[in-house]
Amino acid sequence: MAEAQALLPVVDYLKIPDDGDPYLEGAKCGNCGAIYLGSRRACSKCGTVGGFSSEKLSNKGELYVFSIVHRSFPGIEVPYVSAVVDLEGGGTVKGNLINVEPTPETVKPGMPIEVIYKTAPRKDAEGNEYLTYYFQPRG
Ligand SMILES: [Zn+2]
Repeated sequence: MAEAQALLPVVDYLKIPDDGDPYLEGAKCGNCGAIYLGSRRACSKCGTVGGFSSEKLSNKGELYVFSIVHRSFPGIEVPYVSAVVDLEGGGTVKGNLINVEPTPETVKPGMPIEVIYKTAPRKDAEGNEYLTYYFQPRG
């Protein structure tokens, strides 16, 4: 019987605490307060280098832009919605919007969304599972 493998984050800015729910992590500029997804060396808003602190990003936001993807790699179900979401309080994240009809009539810029976390459908060669994030409409 195979040894139990780890649940790993699919990207390094997805954090899985030992005692809590997963979340996306950003970096906050110590000078101007601008917030970016993931880690950062310099602030593109004020130009300050360094001085960033880690920030737990909100799981709520609104859809900024999207694209309905009709062609992808073999085995990837299409159409799906590739989206960019502005999170409440700061941070802009790209990902897939699920649990919505992938049509221009149902997906609208500005619609409220939430970030949800799910185990990715595939494991790696060592049998590790990966936790990933998606967006879904918030209502
Ligand atoms: Zn700044």
